[in-house]
Amino acid sequence: MNNRIYLSLAHMSEQGYEQKYVKEAFDTNWVVPLGPNVTAFEELLKSYLGGEKEVVVLSAGTAAIHLGLILLGVQPGDEVICQSFTFCASANPITYLGATPVFVDSESDTWNISPVLLEKAIVDRIAKTGKKPKAIIPVHLYGMPAKMDEIIAVADKYQIPILEDAAEALGSCYKGAYCGTLGKVAALSFNGNKMITTSGGGALICSSEERKREAMFYATQARENFPYYQHEKIGYNYRMSNVCAGIGRGQMEVLEEHIAHHKHIHQLYQKAFESVDGISLQVNPNHDFDSNFWLSTILIDENKTGVNYETLRVELDKRNIETRPLWKPLHLQPIFSSAPAYVDGTSERLFHQGLCLPSGPCVSDEDVNFIVDSIAEIMGVRS
Ligand SMILES: *Cc1c(COP(=O)(O)O)cnc(C)c1O
Repeated sequence: MNNRIYLSLAHMSEQGYEQKYVKEAFDTNWVVPLGPNVTAFEELLKSYLGGEKEVVVLSAGTAAIHLGLILLGVQPGDEVICQSFTFCASANPITYLGATPVFVDSESDTWNISPVLLEKAIVDRIAKTGKKPKAIIPVHLYGMPAKMDEIIAVADKYQIPILEDAAEALGSCYKGAYCGTLGKVAALSFNGNKMITTSGGGALICSSEERKREAMFYATQARENFPYYQHEKIGYNYRMSNVCAGIGRGQMEVLEEHIAHHKHIHQLYQKAFESVDGISLQVNPNHDFDSNFWLSTILIDENKTGVNYETLRVELDKRNIETRPLWKPLHLQPIFSSAPAYVDGTSERLFHQGLCLPSGPCVSDEDVNFIVDSIAEIMGVRS
């Protein structure tokens, strides 16, 4: 039996860059939050993203979304619009603040928030509550950039700020600009399965030194500037440790390699599935979109392939290949069943047709061949 092929495993550089920076932290006894690795990692991310934005590295991507919402002034009783087709961490922080998520469905090109439904939702929320939603959270799902021009046009029309969830989209570009630099604030994730990892971590991207200071203030227990501990606001313990930042600093050296590998794997799938009727790989809709293809994803037309997504998943699992259904839309999650939702069935249809395929740095060309052959075999067709 072959070794198990996973969706997206963490991958440390062969050169051992990560260990070098972690060792440095130990050698200098700098094993607390804040420190040279934190500063260097933030600087590397800042310059990678073009140098215009400020970056605060944190303990998780979820923490970045939470603090981003605080910077946008979200308060108890507010409503925040969130893409429904995403991981729960996009929306959970809305509820941490006592605000209510309002879910909006996706459009079928990028699978991300529909600009048309977004405007409908805003108009209807204003009519029903007399109040504008406080923020909009589009997500660049699986690395695919959302239709940002159209989303920004709607957001500007109603003067509502955007928090980009770019957790899966480090290195993805929309019209030549990096995902994470297009909203007022944005979140990245360095969880173990993401494009790069710090074993666990995230980053908040914001637009000025002042906003960065504000984020740091909330991330370090909202300690006021007094010799003793004085607190006038509720804060959080969200800073990244200097040890984890050492891993991140090392991973920055292989970021381009990782992105290139994810794109390469996607290309192999694209070539292989071109001739398979009933399997469609998600691709960039046009040249404005440059996905990092964090995960390659397919839709399965059961009428043509004779198998549904669940049968295919179970059969691939028997062959030691890990796949996963697409995100279950949040408006269908029991925990969010009472939240307002503006949907047209798109994300629900995607959820019932799609699978994520192994795409990470540990997936080889041979693995892709084996995966594609296995799918063909399960469908009962010769490739
Ligand atoms: C991973 C992820 C997050 C959360 O990041 P963590 O670092 O795991 O807290 C948020 N949104 C999306 C879309 C993600 O995939």
